[in-house]
Amino acid sequence: MNFNHSDRVLEIIDKLNHFMGEYIYPAEKIFKEQIDRDKDKVPQIIEDLKLKAKKQDLWNLFLPDSKLGLGLSNVEYAPLCEIMGRSLIAPEVFNCNAPDTGNMELLLNYASDRQKDDWLYKLLDGQIRSAFCMTEPNVASSDATNIETRIEADGEDYVINGRKWWTTNGAHPNCKLLIVMGKTDPSASKYKQQSQILVPMDAKGVNVERKLTIYGYDESPHGHCEISFNNVRVPKSNLILGEGRGFEIAQGRLGPGRIHHCMRLIGAAERALEAMCLRSISRIAFGKTLSSQSSLREKIANSRIEIDQARLLVLKTAWSIDKFGSKESRDQIAMIKVSVPQMACKIIDNSIQVHGAAGFTDDYFLAASWANSRGLRMADGPDAVHSETVAKLELKKFDRG
Ligand SMILES: Cc1cc2nc3c(=O)[nH]c(=O)nc-3n(C[C@H](O)[C@H](O)[C@H](O)COP(=O)(O)OP(=O)(O)OC[C@H]3O[C@@H](n4cnc5c(N)ncnc54)[C@H](O)[C@@H]3O)c2cc1C
Repeated sequence: MNFNHSDRVLEIIDKLNHFMGEYIYPAEKIFKEQIDRDKDKVPQIIEDLKLKAKKQDLWNLFLPDSKLGLGLSNVEYAPLCEIMGRSLIAPEVFNCNAPDTGNMELLLNYASDRQKDDWLYKLLDGQIRSAFCMTEPNVASSDATNIETRIEADGEDYVINGRKWWTTNGAHPNCKLLIVMGKTDPSASKYKQQSQILVPMDAKGVNVERKLTIYGYDESPHGHCEISFNNVRVPKSNLILGEGRGFEIAQGRLGPGRIHHCMRLIGAAERALEAMCLRSISRIAFGKTLSSQSSLREKIANSRIEIDQARLLVLKTAWSIDKFGSKESRDQIAMIKVSVPQMACKIIDNSIQVHGAAGFTDDYFLAASWANSRGLRMADGPDAVHSETVAKLELKKFDRG
């Protein structure tokens, strides 16, 4: 068992940490001022930092393909993704933000050459953004077989009708591509009914009905939207892989991209613990620093233990995906999906408490970071469903029937 990072990764960690300190943390305030001024525009600071990151080769770090990205394994990417996760504005600066990372991997693995020419390279270049439309307001979408949107063949085209919500990036001014999951054949067997299709954001009949908030945060500019599809017509060549292959693609998409959220949350929790320590040693109440209160010291100790536990589990999962593939790592992927967002929520919440009333304001990164972490107990499927997967796989070991 080797817990060391390679020299190459150590070098990128160093570069990334430097970039975060020099540019990202100071930019958080500027980002907020710019986005508050105009929510429908990508803050200029993001575009400026994207150029800087590209120049320093801190770009597409997530992509295992060495021609198009840095060619890092999941284990190698984990500490880098963790560093980016320390700030909510960082991932987009390095072209490593969800859901674009998952969408780029999807296009790389399943799209035709023509589809890649149309969309993938622009995404990899950071020129455009994309969204993934699966969840629907009218059905329990944790069970994707419930999805009702119809994709019907008509001559040379497919016609799409349905309503999606929680489409992350839907509000992004640069979002040009929607990957839509829907039924091409409701009479087929359960897992062959759905397909995935590429829909340009500006196609006639695509309507952004509203922007959704998460605990009051609209998460601009990439916000989450409710989108209706009303007789949206796209050429048949926009279908990915073939009719009835939507689940197969969804499974593939939920591979590596799926654990990036967990990697990022380790970084968010780490930053919250740092803030907790700094605040508690500098704040005096009842004649002594907060850090000398035993209940607070216990919180700090437990936070350190829980972050390190979670990080090890994430690294083990990353290693397992690298070595055996996503399917064989299902149990571990499910475990971190349950444990890491809960750990992050708890530690960020403790840090908020230590900051007193200040922790609830946007003067600190904590409140938005907590809302984001809490959302991630749902965003990649509810943690209750991942728990069910862990229980099922565990019980299977004892099923001798
Ligand atoms: C911040 C955020 C971003 C998102 N981004 C996207 C996106 O980009 N694209 C997209 O398509 N969707 C997105 N989603 C939606 C997300 O994927 C769904 O909310 C999720 O899959 C659950 O579906 P649902 O909301 O319909 O809940 P339901 O399916 O109605 O489930 C409700 C609850 O029932 C319980 N439950 C359900 N099944 C089980 C089970 N088997 N065992 C135990 N309990 C169970 C769970 O507690 C669950 O929370 C996002 C959500 C959030 C919060």
